[in-house]
Amino acid sequence: MNFKFIISAFSILLSYVSFGQSINYRLKMEKPQNHYFQVEMELTDFKENDVTVKMPVWAPGSYLVREFSKNVDLVKAKDEKGQALAVNKKTKNAWVISKGAAKKVIVSYEVYAFELSVRTSFLDLTHGFVSGSGVFMYVDGRQELAGQLTVVPYKDFAKVSTALPKSAESVAADGVQSFVFKNYDQLVDCPIEIGNQEVFTFKAAGVLHTVAIYGAGNYNVDKLKADMAKIVETATGVVGENPNKEYTFIIHNVVDGQGGLEHCNSCTLSVNRWTYSDAEYLGFLSLVAHEYFHLWNVKRIRPIELGPFNYDEENYTSLLWVMEGFTTYYDELLLVRAGYTDDTDYLQKLQSTVNYVEGSVGARVQPLAHASFDAWIKAYRPNENSSNTTMTYYSRGQMLAALIDVMIISKYDGKKCLDHFLQQLYNKYYKKLNRGFSEQEFKTELEEMLGENLDVFFAKYVNGTDIAPLSETFAKVGVQVTEIGLPRASFGAGLRQDGGKTIVRSIRAGSAAELAGLSVNDELIGCNGYRVDQTDFEQFVNGVENGAQFKILVSRDDILYELSVKMTMYDRPQYQFKVVEDDAKAKLRKYWLRKTV
Ligand SMILES: [Zn+2]
Repeated sequence: MNFKFIISAFSILLSYVSFGQSINYRLKMEKPQNHYFQVEMELTDFKENDVTVKMPVWAPGSYLVREFSKNVDLVKAKDEKGQALAVNKKTKNAWVISKGAAKKVIVSYEVYAFELSVRTSFLDLTHGFVSGSGVFMYVDGRQELAGQLTVVPYKDFAKVSTALPKSAESVAADGVQSFVFKNYDQLVDCPIEIGNQEVFTFKAAGVLHTVAIYGAGNYNVDKLKADMAKIVETATGVVGENPNKEYTFIIHNVVDGQGGLEHCNSCTLSVNRWTYSDAEYLGFLSLVAHEYFHLWNVKRIRPIELGPFNYDEENYTSLLWVMEGFTTYYDELLLVRAGYTDDTDYLQKLQSTVNYVEGSVGARVQPLAHASFDAWIKAYRPNENSSNTTMTYYSRGQMLAALIDVMIISKYDGKKCLDHFLQQLYNKYYKKLNRGFSEQEFKTELEEMLGENLDVFFAKYVNGTDIAPLSETFAKVGVQVTEIGLPRASFGAGLRQDGGKTIVRSIRAGSAAELAGLSVNDELIGCNGYRVDQTDFEQFVNGVENGAQFKILVSRDDILYELSVKMTMYDRPQYQFKVVEDDAKAKLRKYWLRKTV
């Protein structure tokens, strides 16, 4: 026992003795066909005359204000004798309860849950899924309070799967289950699946993993156990320590899979139900690796702004490129280390990522740090112009992670890599200081690791929009990167067929299409006096040379316009990755793309 522990044990004791407050939730789903959860919050021993309860506006990990209070109905409150207490709305997501001298307050409300995604909640006759920040309100200013959650499943639902710890009297005869949470952050960081899901367990990296799968699919439980265990072992090898004793995967097999959402000791994955074979299966394993890796990167190794969360508004950080970019980098690298893909596949994928990033118009407009900071209004709210103005921090962050990894490998001659940098952050900020780091601290840590000043690197590639130093960096590990892009004549509009009509879906900034006056949503009807569809027009325009002119007929708001087009050149950067035979560099490359299990 050390000094710090004594102090914290004493302060916990003090908080119980002097306040004795508690907060308990009860979650019911009496009529799943109407998609409403019923929630009760029991507040005991609050001294204030008024208590404010709030519904979060967002779900951590998904950087968009979603206004969860829009789904809340019938907010009521009563005291310990059953007497109604006045409830008044204060802001869009806050309710004030006039409790007076009441010892106990029971707040009740209903939540409409009909959006099945990893970040929202859902209920029907087949199952319920609770993403906590959209279902459980909190007492304003008292998010630190511990409590209990009781789940009363619908009569036909046999199972409750969540990473929340079970309470002592966990399962009652009628299927009612109780869980405990140490604060509000933990309560809403543990999504809950309620229904008749298939549940199995496996042990890996010394951690008991529970997998709860909703929905039919072509999965094989034994194969999943073996492959997910391999991913877990490989991911744990990066930081070298798995901080959990137990971990829960909730998987939704649906038609339209949407990816995943990370939590401290669980995650939710939404995938196409037929994803468990061939190339799609590698995509599934990569998603498992991604969300699992987040238990370190973003949940524990994190920017200072991301915890404790402010549930009332946007939580800005310019480091999402490290959180999501590095995680995306590892979700592919871990497949190499686990032996599912090899170094050739990997370099091919990296080449595609680099070409996507550096070949995009938006990459020259939006710096990586801005993409991160503005995720709330740009990445999560794209429009028809987004490809001209934005570049995702997932892909560009992934590319920078690869560059930084190679820089570290080269500096330490194949004895250290990005893993060791993450270990440094984990040990210092999570374990020792128990907090996140600022952007400046992140930069300083990286400078110390690399033994060089990174002002120019950050100015150009993080806060600026310069093309990354690809050839000089990857040359250090024997990968030759060559610019092979050639300027070509280009029209610059994306089209789609819609009910027999050819509609403009995107216009590249500065393109011939833009100069001619074509707009998104225009219907393209004719070209040089002939009616055309998408295929006809694309065939035609692919054969037109730079400077050549033609006319197009479009309809905008049912008025016909004839536009004159003059083809222009478009110079899109494009790169080719090629391995160079060099023994010293091959050694470093092999270390970079090594198999570890
Ligand atoms: Zn992620």
